[in-house]
Amino acid sequence: MRCVFLCILFLGLSACVTAPPPAPGRAAGALSLCPGRVANAPATDRRGRIAGFAPVTEISGVSLLRAPVDGCVSSGFGPRRGGAGSFHHGVDLYTGSPRTIIAGGDGVVELIGSQRGYGRTVIIRHNRTVKTRYAHLSRYDGDLREGRRVRRGDPIGRTGDSGNATAVHLHYEILVRGKPANPLTAGR
Ligand SMILES: [Zn+2]
Repeated sequence: MRCVFLCILFLGLSACVTAPPPAPGRAAGALSLCPGRVANAPATDRRGRIAGFAPVTEISGVSLLRAPVDGCVSSGFGPRRGGAGSFHHGVDLYTGSPRTIIAGGDGVVELIGSQRGYGRTVIIRHNRTVKTRYAHLSRYDGDLREGRRVRRGDPIGRTGDSGNATAVHLHYEILVRGKPANPLTAGR
């Protein structure tokens, strides 16, 4: 099967369109591109694994997971071809069927709720500078509450296709002072 994934952000809306590929498993510590065509695809090795990928990064004093769900990259971060103002503010991790999403880092749950285009969304505030956003969820974890502390690795929900999405995936953003950073490359 082919993966044709197009994720367009315009006027603050995210519109994701996907023809789903099979979901490959993820080797520990590795992250792969989904089969087929991937928009904004990051560089990979010959086996389709993201080149130089490290599971954890540190941004402004926060340790964050670069991929907080077991999936493959179906769309990378950055400007899109063929659309003025079209910019993908996160990375899309396709999971096939709903899978558990974990908190990317220690922090406080700032928002649990629907956001336009993003569907069911969780935002975690890690410190004054850094937040993460998790979008298109099918459900929230039952223990999740706004204002509650979470630790990196705590379950926060399940992947889905709520909002502007046509395949089950996580749209994951790392926001530094409100500006999106590339989850696969930001920090060190
Ligand atoms: Zn996305």
